[in-house]
Amino acid sequence: MKPVLLITGGSAGIGAACARIAATQGYDLALNYRSDTSAAEAVAADCRAAGAKVVLCQGDVADPGAIAAVYAKIDTEFGRVDALINNAGVVDQTAKLTDMDHARLRRMFDINVIGAMLVAKKAVVRMQAQGDGGVIVNISSAAARLGSGNQYLDYAASKAAIDCFTKGLSDEVAADNIRVMALRPGLIETEIHAKGGEPGRADRLAHMVPMKRKGSAEEVARPIIWLLSDDASYVTGSTLDVTGGR
Ligand code: NAP
Repeated sequence: MKPVLLITGGSAGIGAACARIAATQGYDLALNYRSDTSAAEAVAADCRAAGAKVVLCQGDVADPGAIAAVYAKIDTEFGRVDALINNAGVVDQTAKLTDMDHARLRRMFDINVIGAMLVAKKAVVRMQAQGDGGVIVNISSAAARLGSGNQYLDYAASKAAIDCFTKGLSDEVAADNIRVMALRPGLIETEIHAKGGEPGRADRLAHMVPMKRKGSAEEVARPIIWLLSDDASYVTGSTLDVTGGR
């Protein structure tokens, strides 16, 4: 039986790259996304062509009811979950704290932090009940270290929360043979920058990266899939920077 991997935000960018690689490495896939069904279907088609069973699970991770529905579908279609890439996340427009209102801060933390925690919680409950371990990779950001002042410190703070959550959860579930890691991408070419109102952001800031270039979604996905694998069997509680040195 193939291991079942849930990827939140699996319809685009880093999540989609993870899905395509995981499908070639023997995983079956539950792909969550929020709104772009045609993009999710295109990723699913590629993964099915690589031999994976793929179930699309639309749902906003900021909505606890939607998270419950995602897991209800996984329970019906697969009956288990072995691995989670906790990847769905958003940025917002460039702004200083003095220009951020309560609604913006709520949205950022509802999606990037509380959503990720609730998704992880439901995975852990299943992994513990299954009794044969599991793996969770939470997608953080270099912003958690850099602070992102004058850009989007709300996003950076949400990702710092993910780093802390990762360490705490890894301690709670290590005895259940559930490994929990965070991975911090740097400047990666995906649509997230355009969604935050700055389509050229990765190119504009590439000169600040020691390697002097942006990264690709695939360059982030490969270490994520490695963390999921038995090659990383003694890794837990760790946070891996995939940033070109930034
Ligand atoms: P992306 O290209 O914008 O893709 C985001 C994915 O998440 C899409 O599948 C999107 O689905 C989904 N999503 C967004 N909000 C969601 C929600 N509330 N509920 C469920 N799904 C949701 O972004 P990306 O660059 O691949 O980012 C993936 C992760 O990497 C994020 O956590 C991000 O913070 C992190 N990261 C990215 C970079 C970078 O430079 N790209 C750097 C550091 C960290 P829909 O399109 O259907 O809404």
